[in-house]
Amino acid sequence: MTGSPRKSVFALDPDTQTYTPAVHNMNAAQAVERASTQSASKIVDQERRHRNPDPLKCKTCKKVAEELTAKQAEGAGSNGEEKALTAQESESD
Ligand SMILES: [Zn+2]
Repeated sequence: MTGSPRKSVFALDPDTQTYTPAVHNMNAAQAVERASTQSASKIVDQERRHRNPDPLKCKTCKKVAEELTAKQAEGAGSNGEEKALTAQESESD
């Protein structure tokens, strides 16, 4: 089983809009199955197997989660229905 790709799944917390590591060292099928149980999640390819058995304590996963969270904050405009409300305050007669 050498050289088989490994994947991590990161779950998006809808309240805080932050990603947390859900699982890592999964194969593709496991990752997809795990991701389907979350309302919002991301599957990320790993370059190598992560050593720490706990994804929440895994340094590599933490770093990826931070990057995903940062991107989530940047890209909020493409999916932000809440933003439309603030731009329409000047409708006076
Ligand atoms: Zn990890």
